[in-house]
Amino acid sequence: MKLCKCNNCEGIFEDLNPQVNAKEFPDIKNVKPLKRMKDKDSIFFVCPTCKTDDFLSDDVDNKDFAKLLLGEELSKHIKEKCECDLTEGGKGLCFAGQFTENIISEEDVIDELT
Ligand SMILES: [Zn+2]
Ligand SMILES: [Zn+2]
Repeated sequence: MKLCKCNNCEGIFEDLNPQVNAKEFPDIKNVKPLKRMKDKDSIFFVCPTCKTDDFLSDDVDNKDFAKLLLGEELSKHIKEKCECDLTEGGKGLCFAGQFTENIISEEDVIDELT
């Protein structure tokens, strides 16, 4: 599937109108498509959150994709509700924690989750 990124809200969306040379990513489920809009003479696609195409770019890299795959786990980890930790005798790091600490790479995440 083709993806694009909104540089305003940092969201990643399925690109329904990609450039021909846009990078191809493995298909995943938890990604929303861009919102289709219509005016008098054209159909265009906008960020479903920001309702504009001003900030859209198809510059999505493996790291963006890994973040998308980690999804909820990553937001839980970042918002510190996560119980993982690196202290001795601690629980160790969750998958998202390992990713944010660069213990596993974006390629590892993609391999693991696709
Ligand atoms: Zn947006
Ligand atoms: Zn964690």
